[in-house]
Amino acid sequence: MLFVSYIGHGGIKMSGDNTHCPGCSEPVETGTRLGPGVIECAGCGGTITTRPIWLGETFRYVSNSWDPEGSFEGARYYDLTYLGSKGLGRRHGWYQPKTKGIVQTG
Ligand SMILES: [Zn+2]
Repeated sequence: MLFVSYIGHGGIKMSGDNTHCPGCSEPVETGTRLGPGVIECAGCGGTITTRPIWLGETFRYVSNSWDPEGSFEGARYYDLTYLGSKGLGRRHGWYQPKTKGIVQTG
């Protein structure tokens, strides 16, 4: 409930600038909405959050495990700010859209 009330009062601080894609600096308003608080960047095709989402929600977009092949071919950037049991966190790196598996973190 604390999370919800924070959002209702103008949002909470995120790591970095949440008005532009951290990967390519494209304004987030040009992106395609994938779900609540999550867009596909119009510039790089990355999956990024525009506000914190629940940690469990991030796994709908990017898995918690490595991609079996680990190939960068077709890989996309991701940068997801989340709220988990330890507060705000961030998952970012590269993943394979086909498997949702992680290719590289950070
Ligand atoms: Zn981008």
